[in-house]
Amino acid sequence: MEIAIISGKGGTGKSSITAAFASIANNVVLADCDVDAANMHIIMNPTVEEQSVYIAGEKAVIDYSKCNSCRICTEYCRFEAMTISENKVSIDSVNCDGCRLCERVCPVSAISMEKRDKSRMYSGSFRFGKMVFGILYPGEENSGKLVAIVRRKAKEIATLHKIDHILIDSPPGIGCSLISSITGVDKVVIVTEPSMSAFSDLIRTVELVSKFNTELSIVINKSDLCQQITDEIITYCYQNKFKLAGTIKFDPEIVYAMVNCMTINEWKPDSETSNTLKQIYNSIIN
Ligand code: SF4
Ligand code: SF4
Repeated sequence: MEIAIISGKGGTGKSSITAAFASIANNVVLADCDVDAANMHIIMNPTVEEQSVYIAGEKAVIDYSKCNSCRICTEYCRFEAMTISENKVSIDSVNCDGCRLCERVCPVSAISMEKRDKSRMYSGSFRFGKMVFGILYPGEENSGKLVAIVRRKAKEIATLHKIDHILIDSPPGIGCSLISSITGVDKVVIVTEPSMSAFSDLIRTVELVSKFNTELSIVINKSDLCQQITDEIITYCYQNKFKLAGTIKFDPEIVYAMVNCMTINEWKPDSETSNTLKQIYNSIIN
């Protein structure tokens, strides 16, 4: 069973809750698909057993031994990747989209394409099972494809080791990488919080998720920080017949747990928050 934990808005506590679920499930494959800001490995400290290079597209580079500074290429770039300084054309590798147009128009073949090869995928073991995570190097692109590769690896590992549950820590937002992280999963859990922006993002996220044939649950984190909006979210779930898996009160111990590289269920196993998270996880998987 693949369960994706998502949040329209960043900062709702999605990753803390995913980490807690991993410790509750105890024998899982944990896939950190938040490849633009992967951080689950910091808490879980996995033993890396395998790593692979992810080719995140291409970038243009200039061979200055051939370039005659004719500037023709600069007229074609539509991504503001080319600058001219002291009669020298330069390419900003972050802005370069890898469209290859400059390579085609250069009259002296001074431009070639180089692979973007600094992003990585890692897999290994951690204290609650197996873990896979991708790290997209700053400025490199195609995060959705890396997410798909991380998920594929997680499935392979789950099959090989006969592990029933795969937990996916999805990227925030509703973009390509989020879609890549929820396509074909069995269940989606949206973690929200009682703020106007989070509620607004929740509605947009639900609209997106409802286009997929998957079971949806909603969790309200830090629910006591604004009871009025929490009540509005509960009403929204009730009116639309969405499953509210539970509410979690604000608990500063979650922060202390993270600082100590532990989940709240390891840090304070008998606390109200830990027991609530257990109930929520059981409600989601059953
Ligand atoms: S490959 Fe495309 S985006 Fe990159 S510098 Fe050339 S024209 Fe610009
Ligand atoms: S088109 Fe080719 S030769 Fe002209 S400035 Fe660009 S890289 Fe140099």
